[in-house]
Order: sequence, then structure tokens, then C-alpha cells
Amino acid sequence: MLREQLFNEAFSRIQARRQAARLQQEQRTEQIRREIPETAELDRQLRNTCLAIFQAANGEDRAARLKTVEQQSRQAEDMLRRILTAHGYPADYLDLHFSCTACDDTGFVDGVPCTCLKQEIGRIGAEQLNQHSQLALCRFDTFSMHYYRDLPPEQYSAMEQIFLRCRSYAEEFDPETSGNLLMTGATGLGKTHLSLSIASVLLEQGYSVIYDAAGNLLHMLNQEYFSRGQSEQSDTLSLLLECDLLIIDDFGTEFDTQFNRSMLYTLINGRINARKPMILSTNLSLAEIQAQYGERVLSRLLSASVFQFYGTDIRMRKR
Ligand SMILES: [Zn+2]
Repeated sequence: MLREQLFNEAFSRIQARRQAARLQQEQRTEQIRREIPETAELDRQLRNTCLAIFQAANGEDRAARLKTVEQQSRQAEDMLRRILTAHGYPADYLDLHFSCTACDDTGFVDGVPCTCLKQEIGRIGAEQLNQHSQLALCRFDTFSMHYYRDLPPEQYSAMEQIFLRCRSYAEEFDPETSGNLLMTGATGLGKTHLSLSIASVLLEQGYSVIYDAAGNLLHMLNQEYFSRGQSEQSDTLSLLLECDLLIIDDFGTEFDTQFNRSMLYTLINGRINARKPMILSTNLSLAEIQAQYGERVLSRLLSASVFQFYGTDIRMRKR
């Protein structure tokens, strides 16, 4: 999806929120009028004062009239709030309640896109990129330590620690302070399951999380790069650089080309410089990462917490 389409889609979602807020306010007003008929009378008074304000705009001693009218309207509003609380409703029950108080669901603050609009763009981008992953299947509660039961005790407890640390990583996630994780170990030891479990928790909380295998991500970047010309920064690359959490699975299994190597460096380096968290999983050892990507990628990755996975291939054992 192009940046412009993403923006339009996100903006129309924000507009829908604003409409929903108005609709809900109307419904609450209707409901209160039915339940507490005296509020209908107050409402009529309030509307009359509005009319008076409008008329005052053309009359003489305008300031004085406006002042009285304002006073009346404040009194009517106070009265309404007292009636609401007396009937067990919150005092602001009939106010408009927007999802975003920074921009009142307009998507802009002083002409600049609001955080809520930017978040929505990230979320939609992530939804698009994640549509083929098995996100729904992998959760912390479906992760079983049972598969590791034959491991030597110290390896079993290392796996248990990894599980607990991944769960608290998800629970305590903060896009501005969370660190990077590097999961290493052979295929089928639960790396994908745990990183997708983290993704599920964060997506439910509304964070933008992009998950894919390195090979797929690079394939998309490659296609975009060569179809749009090399001067423009690609939309996918900006999504990958800007999302709250980027999860690159099977790092090291992509084709080893000049393009892939430099693109991976751009991604890893860009996110680390912007202090945006990332989870990488790989079958490679640290020495193999150094051999394949060079010292500069390795040194950037060494800031991550390294989780060494143990066990025998779970996918083989499940059969
Ligand atoms: Zn906003």
C-alpha cells in the first residue's frame, strides 16, 4: 500500500471515530431525556440562551447582554451536571467523548498530524504486512515447556528463563525504552513461537508490530526498490523503520546478495540509531553472523539481549 493510501485510510478511520463520538453523545442525550424529563426543559433553556447570544450580536449594549446570557447558560449547565450526578451518572455524561483528547479526533493539532493519526498509519501498515503470518496461532498460553522436558536441567531452566523474559518483555513493552532481542539456536526450538507471542500481545494493545521472515521482507524491499527507481525511499522501508516493534525471523536464511546485505544493515542500523526496538531470530551463531554480515552488523547486534535456545526440533516431535 502506498504512503498516500495509508494516510487516507488512517485519516478516514480517525474521522469515523469522531462521527462515532457524536453519535454516542446523541444517543446518551436521547436516553437521558427519556429517563429524566426535567433535563429536556433545561436543554430547551440552553438552546434559548444560544439563540439569545446570536441575537445579541446585533443589538445595543451587546457586552452586557452577552454576559447575562453566558451566566444563564453556565447556570443551566451546572444544573444539568447536578441532575446527572443525582441520578447516578458521571457529571460529564452528556459531553462529547473523543478517543484522542489531543486532537478531538480531527487527526491534526495546529495543522500537524497528531500522534493518533501517525499511530493509525503504522497500525494499518503493520496489518498489511502481517496478513500472511500465523500470528493468531502463536501465543504465550499455547507455548509448552513440555517439549523441553528431556533437556539437561541447566538447559531446561535456561529455556524457562527465556519464556519468562519474553513474556515480561511483552508485558512491559515501551516503544521508546525497550531493548533489542537476538534469539539464536537451531530451527524448531520455539524462536518463532515466542516472537509471535510477543507480537500478539503488542498488537492487541494497539502497537504497530511488523513480523516477517528476512527473506520475505527483503524480497518486498527489492521489488519496490527496482520498480520505483532508486532515488525514492520506499514505503515498505519507512514502515519497517518506523513501526513500534520490528521482528525479523530467520535472519541469515535470505539470499546473500549485495542488495540484501546493505538493506539489512540499513534496517538494523536505522532502528538502533533511532532507538526503536527489534527482535531478530537466527539459526546462525554469533561467529557465523560476523562471517556473513561482517563486524559492523555484529557489533550493532551485540547491544541486544542474546537468548540461546536449546532443545530438539519441536516440529519433528509434535508429529
Ligand atoms: Zn489525535
